[in-house]
Amino acid sequence: MKITLLGTGSPIPDPHRAGPSSLLTSGSDLVLVDAGRGVVQRLVAAGVFPAFLRGVVLTHLHSDHISDLNDVITTHWVMSGPGAELPIFGPPGTQRVVSAALDMLAPDIGYRVAHHDDLHTAPSVVVTEVLPGQTFTLGEMSFVVGSTDHRPVEPTVAFRVSDGTHTVVMAGDGVPCESLDALTAGADAYVQTVVREDLVAAIPNPRLQDILDYHSTVVQAAQTAARAGVAHLVLTHYVPAPFQGTELEWASAARQYFSGNIVAGPDLTVLDLSTTAQ
Ligand SMILES: [Zn+2]
Ligand SMILES: [Zn+2]
Repeated sequence: MKITLLGTGSPIPDPHRAGPSSLLTSGSDLVLVDAGRGVVQRLVAAGVFPAFLRGVVLTHLHSDHISDLNDVITTHWVMSGPGAELPIFGPPGTQRVVSAALDMLAPDIGYRVAHHDDLHTAPSVVVTEVLPGQTFTLGEMSFVVGSTDHRPVEPTVAFRVSDGTHTVVMAGDGVPCESLDALTAGADAYVQTVVREDLVAAIPNPRLQDILDYHSTVVQAAQTAARAGVAHLVLTHYVPAPFQGTELEWASAARQYFSGNIVAGPDLTVLDLSTTAQ
């Protein structure tokens, strides 16, 4: 399995970092995890058109993680053959968000159906709302849903994803908790959205300080990774965003708590588990 960090940014706009989203690849199975700002451009930069996606999974419904979901839906639709379905899995509330996105797109859908003889129907988006403990499959990939602690944002979920060879946990936003520990235990790789408490605390903006109580710090992510015994810790969703090339400073902040491989980098950073020594 291969993990591509499509967008390593956060709600704070950044010229070099797209919003939070990652791509999981196993053989011909391509699954998008979250769909933040600029996701379609980054997908194409990774060599993937939305029409190639087996499905989309959402960790939660914070705007930074879904802001370009409508672009994924539209581009998947217009670049696919008739009858193509886009499965979307996410926590309760996902259907409401997708239905609202389709409502927003209604004029565009009308224009395109009227204009193109071979486009007869609106996008076929099949939403499945999932709860912790549930499982599902997309192609050959199996998903276990776990709860995370991103309160007051609820519900939020993480996914333990296996292709039969490797297992990765896509944790989304949140602070360490027992359910995340249980979901992550023994996985090969753990992908965590992180903030740097030391840097955020130095920024005199009360609204920014609020993010500290519901995101894992780099140190907390490293501690979760160590408890889980994973081989690879992947850091993304950097707040505040490091200048490109300085992500290793973030990795070094995790190093004293986690002895495995630490991955941090710009958008399109790849961890390919099939070529990486365990
Ligand atoms: Zn969030
Ligand atoms: Zn976020």
